[in-house]
Amino acid sequence: MSKFHPLTVTDIHRTIRDAVVLTLKPDDDFAFQFVPGQYLTFKQDFDRTELRRNYSICAGLDDGTLQVGIKRVDGGAFSTFANSDLAVGDTLFAMPPMGSFGVKTEPNKAKSYLAFAGGSGITPILSILKTTLAREPNSTFTLIYANRAVHTIMFRDELEDLKNRYMQRFTLIHVLETGQDIDLFSGRVDAEKCAVLFKSWIDIASVDTALICGPEPMMLAISAALETHGLSKDQIRFELFGAGQQGRLARQAVKDAAQGTPATRAKITLDGTTHQIEMAKDTSVLQTAIDNQLDPPFACRAGVCSTCKARVTEGEYQMLTNHALEDYEVEAGYVLTCQCYPLSDTLIIDYDQH
Ligand SMILES: Cc1cc2nc3c(=O)[nH]c(=O)nc-3n(C[C@H](O)[C@H](O)[C@H](O)COP(=O)(O)OP(=O)(O)OC[C@H]3O[C@@H](n4cnc5c(N)ncnc54)[C@H](O)[C@@H]3O)c2cc1C
Repeated sequence: MSKFHPLTVTDIHRTIRDAVVLTLKPDDDFAFQFVPGQYLTFKQDFDRTELRRNYSICAGLDDGTLQVGIKRVDGGAFSTFANSDLAVGDTLFAMPPMGSFGVKTEPNKAKSYLAFAGGSGITPILSILKTTLAREPNSTFTLIYANRAVHTIMFRDELEDLKNRYMQRFTLIHVLETGQDIDLFSGRVDAEKCAVLFKSWIDIASVDTALICGPEPMMLAISAALETHGLSKDQIRFELFGAGQQGRLARQAVKDAAQGTPATRAKITLDGTTHQIEMAKDTSVLQTAIDNQLDPPFACRAGVCSTCKARVTEGEYQMLTNHALEDYEVEAGYVLTCQCYPLSDTLIIDYDQH
């Protein structure tokens, strides 16, 4: 079952004109313990339609609070509501923290982290950054933060404070599309910019882990540049907030291929109960579970977040899009059920093996 808990909004702080930081008090603090890099899935009714949206936790583990940062998207339902209508004392509903972006803190290690954030992509990185600097006293952290202009930089003061506090271990580089005098720090963070940065400012050979969170084109360009400059796939972690290509063509191909094929006998386990269901080959596992009132967990429905993750233990399937699961998870049979379609005549899926 999707377990939504009430959270009281105890503070709303505007970090820039178009973004708010919400401080939230859950009814159950234990359920909302988090690992830096994780996100919350909120649900909210708009014109009697329920929308679900993910927002990454921006607080560090030692802040003793639960906070998310929400940047307004033009015409966006939830982000506009959060920025314009939400008030202190209101109640939001969210599932406990999820997601596997982020790194395990190892206090005795001396590691070198390199992070890239674009716009609101700073939120999970800020949580990881604060926690790592506080809990790994021998590690260093370099953050390249891309924004349109100075006035769109979320958490600018907080980042400056961290820079002053951890002067020897935290390097902050702002790259702005407009308003920077130095060429290197102007424009977009693309392959060319990375090549110059890696030549003059960042010793890529010493980097243990790279973290990227931002728009899809920026993320793809940076991860390719990191690999070109010697980092392995395992060293690069990323979190995507939204995908440009929603896979309509792939879904049409599934529909075409499914015509005239027999239904799949599926067994779907959720909350300890196994349900036997006939599912059409052109219907995703998630949609089948929803249609059968199983109340499965889900949010983006676009293969971007991992809220609907489950494990296929028997049968063949195809996953149309995956921006969230690591290769080793896919090899182990984990799927994003919103993108998972049956190929075989039987399929066994377990949501409890999350
Ligand atoms: C794992 C994860 C973590 C995230 N963390 C954060 C975070 O920390 N901070 C943050 O700010 N965001 C975060 N996001 C993004 C966030 O979840 C939302 O996608 C974002 O806030 C937009 O949601 P919305 O409801 O405001 O916009 P939506 O209503 O979904 O609209 C998005 C865009 O689509 C357009 N649109 C909507 N409906 C239509 C239509 N019918 N036809 C044409 N265009 C349309 C809108 O104009 C808008 O430009 C995260 C996403 C993921 C997957």
